[in-house]
Amino acid sequence: MRDRIPDSRVVVPLTLMANIVGATNSKTPNALVLDSGLTSNVGCGADILLTGLYHDLKAEAVCPVCGNKVEVIIKDRKVASARPKSALLHYVVDDENRFSICCSGTFLFDRRQCLTKWLKSYEGPRGSVASPQAFMDEALSRRGGRQRAACC
Ligand SMILES: [Zn+2]
Repeated sequence: MRDRIPDSRVVVPLTLMANIVGATNSKTPNALVLDSGLTSNVGCGADILLTGLYHDLKAEAVCPVCGNKVEVIIKDRKVASARPKSALLHYVVDDENRFSICCSGTFLFDRRQCLTKWLKSYEGPRGSVASPQAFMDEALSRRGGRQRAACC
């Protein structure tokens, strides 16, 4: 059996097979671990929540303003825990039809004060603000559970 596998086979990254949205080998401030134990960095906070549509997971993001950690636990497509509770996602929708997200303007903040401060110097495309759960609800209704890449 083994010698039937050609040497030139394409190796699909495990994270891609597992449908981790925005999975990357680069070091990012957003990391998640699936229930299966598979871990990955992802592009932005929206990727964490979008991956949560397909997997139970624990994740950690870093507030881009103060550096505080934001911890999210997702079970059954719901935010079972977000710490701190004041966590907010600013997100930019790149393609309305596909509800794909542009990570360059998308961050999880630990609290509204940080978001407000960040918005004062933000000059990117207009975004929306939602709690992690509200974003997941929106994504679920817009994407209908279809798997899509997050980033533009
Ligand atoms: Zn902060």
